[in-house]
Amino acid sequence: MINYPVLVLNQNYEPLMVCRARRAVVLIFQGKAEMLEDGVGLVHSATSSFPLPSVIRLGRQVKRPRQKKRLTRLEVFNRDHHTCQYCGRQSHQLSLDHIIPRYRGGPHTWENVVSACIPCNRKKAGRTPQEANMLLITRPVAPTGNGMNISRFCLEDRDKWQKYLFQ
Ligand SMILES: [Zn+2]
Repeated sequence: MINYPVLVLNQNYEPLMVCRARRAVVLIFQGKAEMLEDGVGLVHSATSSFPLPSVIRLGRQVKRPRQKKRLTRLEVFNRDHHTCQYCGRQSHQLSLDHIIPRYRGGPHTWENVVSACIPCNRKKAGRTPQEANMLLITRPVAPTGNGMNISRFCLEDRDKWQKYLFQ
């Protein structure tokens, strides 16, 4: 419950990011945010209990985080949901694959790197996906610098978020 995703709105109701319920509750307790929609379950403190938030709004307008995410192995794995982009298997043992191999001029950019499991990476070796006849399951793009990906959560049943996200 405490890891439940909570939509965080800026003071002007603009969707800012998604955080865990734990963090949202702290923000409310500190008076830095108000609860707009309650979620599933209750939070218990020593003296009382109140509903877990589903949508909160910050009391103060904050600047949207615009900084680009650094291209690191972990960020690429996160972007790809720890899934090999060739065979679609989730794995804790992933490697970074350059779609167009580096020695053939492939750049080290978000659009040219994907997560690949070790067997797929070995199989592909120094070839392009076309040459290796291994198709990518999604087209890699640079992630938006907004922490958690809101669109991913929109796919789930988040009725209470709809009116804030699509207005
Ligand atoms: Zn694979």
